[in-house]
Amino acid sequence: MFTALIAPVYIAPLFNTYTKLTDPKIKDPILSMARANGIPATDVYEVDESRQSNRVSANVSGFWGTERISLNDNLLKRCTPEEILTTMGHEMGHYVLNHVYKDIFFYALFFLAAFAFLNWALQWTLSRWGERWQIRGITDIAVLPLAALLLALFFFVTTPINNIWSRTQEYEADIFGLNAGRQPDGEAAVDLKLGDYRKLDPSPLEEFLFFDHPSGRTRITAAMRWKKENMSILDEPSAEPKPPSMLRSAPTPQSP
Ligand SMILES: [Zn+2]
Repeated sequence: MFTALIAPVYIAPLFNTYTKLTDPKIKDPILSMARANGIPATDVYEVDESRQSNRVSANVSGFWGTERISLNDNLLKRCTPEEILTTMGHEMGHYVLNHVYKDIFFYALFFLAAFAFLNWALQWTLSRWGERWQIRGITDIAVLPLAALLLALFFFVTTPINNIWSRTQEYEADIFGLNAGRQPDGEAAVDLKLGDYRKLDPSPLEEFLFFDHPSGRTRITAAMRWKKENMSILDEPSAEPKPPSMLRSAPTPQSP
């Protein structure tokens, strides 16, 4: 709970400086999208994360009136307004879909399973080799290296479960971001930039086992499919030139 809920609000600002974003070209569409998706935020903050890395990143965090939308200076420097908007749509997806609370629930169960396994595995190994290893029992401090080894084994073997959980939420956020931001080309361009540190085209097995986010291939495919199926209205010749805001706005969804 500390990592997911409290640290982004109370700890992250200790290490970086958050300043209010003033450029209306960037700020206004983000706040419009926030309002359209029921996020109670009135400001967008820029955080100087270029001090730590050159990764592009953003987040929507907070609870009980501390909600805040922030994006890092790498995102502002390296991305177009369309790319920024689709990234913020993704982050808003995490917030609106309550991923933080679902994470807390999932990891509570996950750690319960980890400790249950640890208890069972310690009893089992000690009953076999406890005497030879001169460990008197589960309360003997000498059990610590064995406990660390068994927990590490548990976390290693369950890596794919964690990754599937995380990747599923990331894909949900991608889909939310496409619907909210309506910037499939921006999305694809950001996905390519993420190739800086995440393999773009892994084998499906590699993605299934080791990827905590969808691969670039999966994300770009989703963005282009969304574009094909949802943006045909933009290609229709129109007698009147559309105001720029129309380019961002939604084609009316057809009723099913
Ligand atoms: Zn995400």
